[in-house]
Amino acid sequence: MWNETAEKMSRVEMRKLQSTRLRNVVKHAYHNSPFYRRKMQEMDITPDDIQSIDDIVKLPFTVKQDLRDNYPFGLMAVPMSEIVRLHASSGTTGKPIVVGYTRKDLAVWKEGVSRCLTAYGVTKDDSIQVSYGYGLFTGGLGAHDGVENIGGTVIPMSSGNTQKQIQLMHDFGAKGLACTPSYALFLAETIHESGIPLEEFQLRVGAFGAEPWTENMRKELEEKLHIKAYDIYGLTEICGPGVGGECECQDGTHLWEDHFFPEIVDPVTLQPVEPGKQGELVFTTLTKEGMPMLRYRTRDLTALHYETCACGRTAVRMDRILGRSDDMLIIRGVNVFPSQVEAVILELPEFEPHYFMIIDRVNNTDTFLIQVELRPDYYSDEMNRMLALKKKIADRLLSVIGIRPEIKIMEPHSIERSQGKAKHVQDNRKLL
Ligand code: ADP
Ligand code: ZN
Repeated sequence: MWNETAEKMSRVEMRKLQSTRLRNVVKHAYHNSPFYRRKMQEMDITPDDIQSIDDIVKLPFTVKQDLRDNYPFGLMAVPMSEIVRLHASSGTTGKPIVVGYTRKDLAVWKEGVSRCLTAYGVTKDDSIQVSYGYGLFTGGLGAHDGVENIGGTVIPMSSGNTQKQIQLMHDFGAKGLACTPSYALFLAETIHESGIPLEEFQLRVGAFGAEPWTENMRKELEEKLHIKAYDIYGLTEICGPGVGGECECQDGTHLWEDHFFPEIVDPVTLQPVEPGKQGELVFTTLTKEGMPMLRYRTRDLTALHYETCACGRTAVRMDRILGRSDDMLIIRGVNVFPSQVEAVILELPEFEPHYFMIIDRVNNTDTFLIQVELRPDYYSDEMNRMLALKKKIADRLLSVIGIRPEIKIMEPHSIERSQGKAKHVQDNRKLL
């Protein structure tokens, strides 16, 4: 373990530490952020009302719109001279938001990534190819700093230039690959097509995140690349990748809760939900200086588990993210997450793990089309066989998500491959 004291701290000790740190961060926010002072005054609370971590429920929530309203620097709680780095969210959903980090904030972030890498079995003897985008997006630089921090060798590829990616991965003997799971899939496909035998690669570990992915996608990537594929989770508002990561047990993503305190709330009532129950993930940064976040609503849907993990870590574990509440599609009244569709497509051996969903409205009824690629061995000139395959996937989706899509079988490679966060949905109803 990178930090055994923190990762294996008893629950009682952890609550104590979190209480102390919460008191400090609330004082910091109240005295140095006009935004939080106003919010707390509106709720008629002062830092004195926050004595232990249990008092967190008294604090106001923060939402993405608050960051937009205070664009660019309105939420900084230190003078700009203390800010050593700026990042912005990739803007998957709307206008970008900006986050500033002090030197200490960067140290905490690196610490988080270092814990993840160590949990994956990466050491200072290994080289890691970082194929997350570098720049304002937190993925590239976040992973980069973590690898350097544990003393490993960074191969700072950034995303894109896929042919060169596999050439250097091969020539430099990269042991690990850090990128989005969808880009890892594209790289795997490119390796297979290159004709370079997989045995000539040293790759053993994948650090995949920045977008939802399923257990079936993990299997697919592990088989295609002969690696162990691990989850890494994070978001710009909190720091970036490394808020948490999986361990060797691959049984939930450990969150580094001595720095980032997680809660699960009901997204409608905003009341806390029981451990193990699904809801919206909310974070409070316990040690952040530059731009502390109190009860930040991520919109990510998941559940938390507090039992000690088989790896020995006590750090709370999070289920795979089902998706963001704003990724949820309502099609003919049925709630559908892209990750549910992914799970079904990847379970069927006849189909490639690439898909694209198009939703529209015709004559006041929603239409739901899913484009998929068939694996070459399953191609057939017989109309009946192709119809049977379409029926198979549509039936399966009906039973899992409760709605029957129309299926379109696409030519190999015709669905766009992603180099960063994959785009799986086009909802034309938004244009109506
Ligand atoms: P943007 O909001 O523009 O996508 P970020 O890069 O900060 O900006 O994205 C963070 C979001 O990405 C998270 O809130 C979550 O929805 C998603 N995400 C990050 N890591 C994972 C992961 N391991 N599994 C599922 N979703 C993830
Ligand atoms: Zn574990």
